[in-house]
Amino acid sequence: MTPTPDTVHLTPDEIELWAQGLLPAARDVHLAWCAECRQTAERERKLLRELAQLTRFAPEFGFVERVMAKVKIPTPSGGFKN
Ligand SMILES: [Zn+2]
Repeated sequence: MTPTPDTVHLTPDEIELWAQGLLPAARDVHLAWCAECRQTAERERKLLRELAQLTRFAPEFGFVERVMAKVKIPTPSGGFKN
């Protein structure tokens, strides 16, 4: 007995596609009524988003050092003293 496409739970691969907005509409239909897959898909999308942010903001080597050099608090030189 072959289940119709929209009754089959999404595979991890399909959920990944969905999170990227690439899931075919035929499979997207399943998410409309399957709370289980929707929950999994939302979690995957959140994870992907967090990963994307991590990648975007991942400091390259030496980044912290360069930033720290810029924001280094000037040491009091005595110039403000009367
Ligand atoms: Zn499902």
